[in-house]
Amino acid sequence: SGGSLVAYAEAKTYSGSHGHIAHADATASDGGHALSEVVPKKKKLVLLGTGWAGMSFLKNLNNPTYEVEIVSPRNFFVFTPLLPSVTCGKVEARSIAEPIRNIIIKKNVDISFSEAECVKIDPQNKKIYCRATIDSHSKGEEEFAVDYDYLIIAVGAQVNTFNTPGVMENCHFLKEIDDAQKIRKNVIESFEKASLPSLSDEERKKILHFVIVGGGPTGVEFAAELHDFVNEDVVKLYPKVKDLVKITLLEATDHILNMFDKRITNFAENKFGRDGIDVKLGSMVTGINENEISTKARGNGKTSSTPYGMVLWSTGIGPRPLIKEFMKQIGQGNRRALATDEWLRVEGFDNIYALGDCATINQRKVMEDIAEIFRKADKDNSGTLTVKEFQETLDDICERYPQVELYLKNKQKRNIVDLVKEAKGDAAKQSMELNIEEFKAALSEVDSQMKNLPATAQVANQQGAYLAKCFNRMEECEKNPEGPPRFRGTGHHRFHPFRYRHLGQFAPLGGEQTAAELPGDWVSIGHSSQWLWYSVYASKQVSWRTRALVVSDWLRRFIFGRDTSGI
Ligand code: FAD
Repeated sequence: SGGSLVAYAEAKTYSGSHGHIAHADATASDGGHALSEVVPKKKKLVLLGTGWAGMSFLKNLNNPTYEVEIVSPRNFFVFTPLLPSVTCGKVEARSIAEPIRNIIIKKNVDISFSEAECVKIDPQNKKIYCRATIDSHSKGEEEFAVDYDYLIIAVGAQVNTFNTPGVMENCHFLKEIDDAQKIRKNVIESFEKASLPSLSDEERKKILHFVIVGGGPTGVEFAAELHDFVNEDVVKLYPKVKDLVKITLLEATDHILNMFDKRITNFAENKFGRDGIDVKLGSMVTGINENEISTKARGNGKTSSTPYGMVLWSTGIGPRPLIKEFMKQIGQGNRRALATDEWLRVEGFDNIYALGDCATINQRKVMEDIAEIFRKADKDNSGTLTVKEFQETLDDICERYPQVELYLKNKQKRNIVDLVKEAKGDAAKQSMELNIEEFKAALSEVDSQMKNLPATAQVANQQGAYLAKCFNRMEECEKNPEGPPRFRGTGHHRFHPFRYRHLGQFAPLGGEQTAAELPGDWVSIGHSSQWLWYSVYASKQVSWRTRALVVSDWLRRFIFGRDTSGI
């Protein structure tokens, strides 16, 4: 536990002594040698995590004045958007993993890597405590402490079971490469098992009942992959059991793919209906045992239990134990992710940054900014704006806060009139002028949404690149602060605040069809978007090596079908 590690670290009297800092100190105190040999001590930057945020930070960092130490339980980066493709053998696991040392070796920065997980952060002493994740037989060596000047927390999140009984013991998850490989093995084994001669049809049906809990992008993509696999490969390879396969998708809310445009949601629901995927909306899972999954209908409270062969649990994410513990330590105990300011600094700390899925930007200033925009638009100081002026104001806000635009688009509220009508009810029909309070009321729902950016690779990737650029220009920016004047001066930061740019999102729906939602309210669904998906994901690979592997996997699948060996 974290506690025993602290005790252990104290017993060993670590004195700022892991890795290269000690080396710098030794140089400085090297007997009678001239002082001219003393190299200024590099600032130590510790990075936790080698996922999207960590990898992007690392790839973009090129300031050799830092000494970087990476701590992560895995020594590779995973291209998570292709994990669902691994579950049914479309892409090989190896093809979407890039060894972190391949990235380190190309950098002109002093970087070291430890395959370990951080188990405790001690901000007072600027120290983290770590435990190696590789087997170590020599006692004690598997635990160590690292000092830092700057700490960058990019540890991602973990699956959220919402404390539903039996989920941990009986479900599959799809978060890591291991998970995808386990699912793949289980899928193939299910077909082999169902083909054994000793079973009854009832038993076969149970084994071949695949249940997916959660109608978000991952659940939907897995359902589509599985359906394609059954249609394209199982029919040929396991003809006797092909008609016994059932895929059920359970979603607690009223629609799948909630975060997508309504047109995409409708198309996906209709397509799955035609494909024979049983989409059960408003269906809450209440428990899972070895044989059955129990659900409760949201509308009428009716409960039912269904036998299953395999369940994938994909309902969202929650904080990792390290983050939960750290939040408690720093008084953020009741949050779902670490709160940072717009410069990605953990609230209350100048030298600790958090990004990606483990963090959320606390944008308390959003409403103040909006009020400021309102006041500027109110040229005659009347305290009211016409709807036309509101629309222009809203455009201004959308430009500054892409989350607002994203939210309005997702809710199909493309113009202010809809928002105003909603806030004022019938009164809006009589008066199409609003004062600031009414305007704020119209935006209040948006305000609560604006606080959270989506937990996506796109956000993590942009945050990593942003932070690396800040560190690259740290000294220069200290001398010449940039950003709007109101952000300069004491208490503020030297850099422009982080701004997210939404580049669009994809939802692969199977049958070589993908739904694409791109900036500018552009929605495209079908085969052409599938080709766009192939090209975007090929181009977004982090190295030419993984790009070549992924593209050759796709070609292999087109020519020879999926690999059904289950290894
Ligand atoms: P991660 O990428 O999860 O990386 C976290 C890193 O921290 C890992 O290296 C982990 O080993 C390490 N770590 C964990 N604990 C510790 C510890 N205690 N100490 C040190 N290191 C630690 N997003 C999109 O934008 N588009 C998509 O199409 C998409 N598809 C997805 C499909 C799937 C199946 C999944 C699971 C996610 C998908 N996402 C997608 C979401 C995206 O993967 C995440 O938002 C993204 O990975 C978040 O990046 P991160 O760096 O915060 O965390």
